[in-house]
Amino acid sequence: MESHAPIVGRLAPSPTGAQHVGNARTYLIAWLSARSRGGSVGLRIEDIDSPRIKPGAAAGAIDDLHWLGLDWDGVPLVQTERLSFYEAALVQLQARDLVYPCTCTRTDVERAASAPHPEHEGPIYPGTCAHRRAVDARDLPPGSFAWRMRVGSETIVFEDGFHGPLAMNLHEIGGDFVVWKSAGTPAYQLAVVVDDAAQQVSEVVRGDDLLPSTPRQLLLYRELGLMPPRFVHVPLVIGPDGKRLAKRHGDTRLQALRAAGVSAQALLGLLAWSCGWLDSIRPITLNELRLGFDLATIPRQPFTLTPEVLAEMGYHSP
Ligand code: GLU
Ligand code: ZN
Repeated sequence: MESHAPIVGRLAPSPTGAQHVGNARTYLIAWLSARSRGGSVGLRIEDIDSPRIKPGAAAGAIDDLHWLGLDWDGVPLVQTERLSFYEAALVQLQARDLVYPCTCTRTDVERAASAPHPEHEGPIYPGTCAHRRAVDARDLPPGSFAWRMRVGSETIVFEDGFHGPLAMNLHEIGGDFVVWKSAGTPAYQLAVVVDDAAQQVSEVVRGDDLLPSTPRQLLLYRELGLMPPRFVHVPLVIGPDGKRLAKRHGDTRLQALRAAGVSAQALLGLLAWSCGWLDSIRPITLNELRLGFDLATIPRQPFTLTPEVLAEMGYHSP
């Protein structure tokens, strides 16, 4: 069915800090997945999360992608330049009362949560403001509320390109979710759907920390009448302590590797080895990788980046 449709992948860096080896691995898989089948790749700068955006980080991400040799087609989309499109989507949801104004603070939601929740996913929204209709926002002071999407208790079923068939219940993963923040900016969930649809993305390859976002995004695709892409969630890179790659694991920023004289081909070799495309760590080009690309060899478990592995490509973190 999809064999003749052109494949459109995308790279979507958040300029919240420097790109590290973990980001590079996901970008590489996303890029190869599209390019190995003659597909195109879009670039999008996800810079709407204003308090966390770092000056220069967007240019830094573009620099890092160039260094790795990962290219893209067309002009990059920049989310802060696209607010009117997100607003239009919000208006559509408001018109159908699929969203309501929520005046709860984070603390309110935490306090009302009945059960303990896994720290990364947050509590289930208790529905405090769900009685409101969209028009009720007129009686609330501007800036005092967020917009939440009503989710009911639906289970969303989808086929993940890496994990296979999945079923996730929208209530259990957090319930009604924010699509527009009280600060007046779109939330990630809404912006990413509007943008992936606008860029006609047919395949989203991203870290599996975003798996719980997918059923929410699929709901938004449906309610906005947009065509969803195929989702492929790949395992993350972790440090020797089993935690997600961070500063305490040494300096794994791409710019640090580059400054230490590591070549892009050396890093590509390490990443390819971690994905099961190479038997040992040795420099390799993108072109060679494109020919041998296979999602199926990527290990199911996260990739543990150790100082020993980094040393194999000649890098010793300061
Ligand atoms: N900008 C997000 C990140 O860098 C990726 C979002 C996505 O792939 O949907 O983590
Ligand atoms: Zn509320």
